[in-house]
Amino acid sequence: MANQTVQLLGIRVNAYTYSSWLDQIGHWITEDGGSLKHICTVNPEFLVIAQKEPEFYRVLSQANACIPDGTGVLLAARWLGQKLPSRITGSDGIYRLAERAAADGWRIFLLGAAPGVAEEAAARLQSHYPGLAVVGTYAGSPAEQEAEAIIALVNQSQADILLVAYGAPRQDLWIDRYRDRLAVRMAMGVGGAFDFVAGKVPRAPYWMRRWGLEWLFRLIRQPWRWRRMLRLPVFVWLVLRYGSRPAVPRGLSEAV
Ligand code: UDP
Repeated sequence: MANQTVQLLGIRVNAYTYSSWLDQIGHWITEDGGSLKHICTVNPEFLVIAQKEPEFYRVLSQANACIPDGTGVLLAARWLGQKLPSRITGSDGIYRLAERAAADGWRIFLLGAAPGVAEEAAARLQSHYPGLAVVGTYAGSPAEQEAEAIIALVNQSQADILLVAYGAPRQDLWIDRYRDRLAVRMAMGVGGAFDFVAGKVPRAPYWMRRWGLEWLFRLIRQPWRWRRMLRLPVFVWLVLRYGSRPAVPRGLSEAV
């Protein structure tokens, strides 16, 4: 199951469960001489942006795993007659990852979010999962002039896992750009996950997440997101029109 993928708008999304996802990460961390593996948390917005930004499309295509972060991705797969067993989100995944990391001794570095947020997220994760090794936190920014200092900080920490909260697509472009220089085994963009863990932004109640309404909750709490949310109907249109194939530029200019 773990290696099965569903192709949506040209991007392969992995059919993981949380447990097979964590097993895969464990394999990457313990394998000899492993290079950085990049995980992208794909939601409908990612897939729409990728259709008009070739660089982001390339990054998603070359990621070692694309996990289905978003009910829309599961629904689109089902529409195409395929099945993804579960959402694997950055915001829930960070807890699952921390739990397994505490048990198996994986070292984590939290990069991004506003100053102080990664520290608070680390403290809360460590109080949930005693023994968790958060070996570094830093707000920083994806600006090019900061990259050298950040890479040095991450590498000195000897982290196994780097979680980057710079928002999409910047966080994933950043990871891809420096992947050969970062001495971690796995890096993943997690969007607003540190804000959720640190309690800066409330998470949608369970029933809303269960019914695929997390986007509505975020829209009500953070109304400035409305422009970004216009990508949801565009996603529906693109999936109906192109299915598993990438959208052609002509179709895109009509839609995006
Ligand atoms: N962020 C940052 N530096 C930047 C831009 C964004 O640290 O230059 C952080 C921001 O503080 C937030 C996260 O990136 O913690 C992005 O959150 P958002 O909710 O926009 O991400 P999404 O989950 O929607 O991708």
